[in-house]
Amino acid sequence: MQAERATSEKVYRQADVVVVGLGISGLIAMNLLEKQGISTIGVDGRDRIGGRVASIRTRGGRAFEAGGEFVKPGHKRVLATLEALDIATVPVPEPFGLDVVIHGGTRWEERSPFAEMPASQAAYNDLHGRFRALFTDWGAGGASEAPDEHLSFGGWAAHHATDAHAINRFCRDIVFGMGGRDAAGVSFAAALDYHSSVPHENCEVRSLRIAGGGSQIALRLSNQIAPGKFLLQSEVTSISSTHDAVRVRHRNGEIEASMAIVAMSPALARSIRIDPPLPAQKIQTQDAWIQRSAIKSLIIFDRPWWRDRNLSGHADGDLALMQVLDVSPMGTQEGWLMAFENVDTGLDERHTAGQYEAHAAANLRRYFGEFDNPISDFGAQVWALDPFAGGCGSPLPPGFPISARLGLAEPHGSILFAGTEIARSGWGSIEGAICAGERAAAEALSRLRVTEAG
Ligand SMILES: Cc1cc2nc3c(=O)[nH]c(=O)nc-3n(C[C@H](O)[C@H](O)[C@H](O)COP(=O)(O)OP(=O)(O)OC[C@H]3O[C@@H](n4cnc5c(N)ncnc54)[C@H](O)[C@@H]3O)c2cc1C
Repeated sequence: MQAERATSEKVYRQADVVVVGLGISGLIAMNLLEKQGISTIGVDGRDRIGGRVASIRTRGGRAFEAGGEFVKPGHKRVLATLEALDIATVPVPEPFGLDVVIHGGTRWEERSPFAEMPASQAAYNDLHGRFRALFTDWGAGGASEAPDEHLSFGGWAAHHATDAHAINRFCRDIVFGMGGRDAAGVSFAAALDYHSSVPHENCEVRSLRIAGGGSQIALRLSNQIAPGKFLLQSEVTSISSTHDAVRVRHRNGEIEASMAIVAMSPALARSIRIDPPLPAQKIQTQDAWIQRSAIKSLIIFDRPWWRDRNLSGHADGDLALMQVLDVSPMGTQEGWLMAFENVDTGLDERHTAGQYEAHAAANLRRYFGEFDNPISDFGAQVWALDPFAGGCGSPLPPGFPISARLGLAEPHGSILFAGTEIARSGWGSIEGAICAGERAAAEALSRLRVTEAG
């Protein structure tokens, strides 16, 4: 990547705007400002750009997209950005065969969730209809009454239905779609907020894939910016701000600028010392922020043996490997499975890659049955062990005030904020990262123009 040619240096530098965090959100902001003739410097603690989009290698040396790569049809800013950067999308093929679900120790195979359970289907449709009406209303600002912020998503569903199959399926569809795992641990208000922010017809993960993955967006955005503008391996430790200037201290020096854009999750932003300090409520919100632990893995077999059993390769449930998808590329004999896992499996930095692989294989056996085919290639990214990610998506728990999330987007002196977690639209996804970056760049531009006019 072009940005990797930049070297960190012990210097004192100046720019109009310093962007702290070079994930998609920071890169979008930097790119928009540079296009308007504003001088920027981008700083990141890692030795690469892209943040939670990353292309890594499997043990066999294949490229594997370890972070964001799917786009939903309602992700309009992602689709527009892909078009502007000349990046294609690839439809995710419709699976054939049966999906596997394991819940509460019971395993079943299904083509459509309730083919033989009309009562469950009716209860599921009813829950979906009620929820859709509420989040549509909420999104339009028409909700007559704010939901109780202590209510969990699971609690809301259980209050409106008695059919256990319908409740379980509905909770999984909605909560997994948000990147969550446990409906009791996700706030109902957060679910309304999340689903109202992106118009989409269903809550499925599968839709479109970005050709080459989300890291293509980061790569092409960075290619439009001069390499010398990036300072990598330069973790920012403090920012002091006056009404018209900031001083950003990083591991290798200092930068003076008219303003800073901090583009990262609140869970990471809290480790940067801000002077004067943020208001107490914002600090509390940052402190309460949860980065959910996650592993994304690619498991490759010589052939997609699960198809012999009329299985689609799509599975989800309450195992450690919470979701599995068949992502076998067209035109190959190989079978590729992508899996998402929570680190509450007990696996951590003390484990070897081989142990992650064995663990994934054990979970696949529970979903798809015994298999003799050896795993021919394997790759995994453990996001929770990455100090500059600390995990991925953050479905907010009950009791977390929704208004506080957006409050974190408000400027503090000459410091502006971006990052997907505080986006008004599409938060938790690449869409949110782009929206928040665009918003922060617009705020910076309007401040700089006011200053010039003054
Ligand atoms: C496994 C996984 C799968 C995903 N799948 C999808 C998907 O299919 N579709 C989708 O839309 N989204 C997906 N996402 C979410 C999406 O990738 C993120 O929402 C998005 O990339 C976040 O971008 P960001 O710029 O807001 O934050 P980040 O990418 O986290 O960028 C923040 C940057 O700040 C840097 N940083 C942190 N602290 C400091 C510091 N003190 N000093 C300097 N730099 C610092 C970090 O190194 C990082 O580069 C997925 C995420 C993960 C982890």
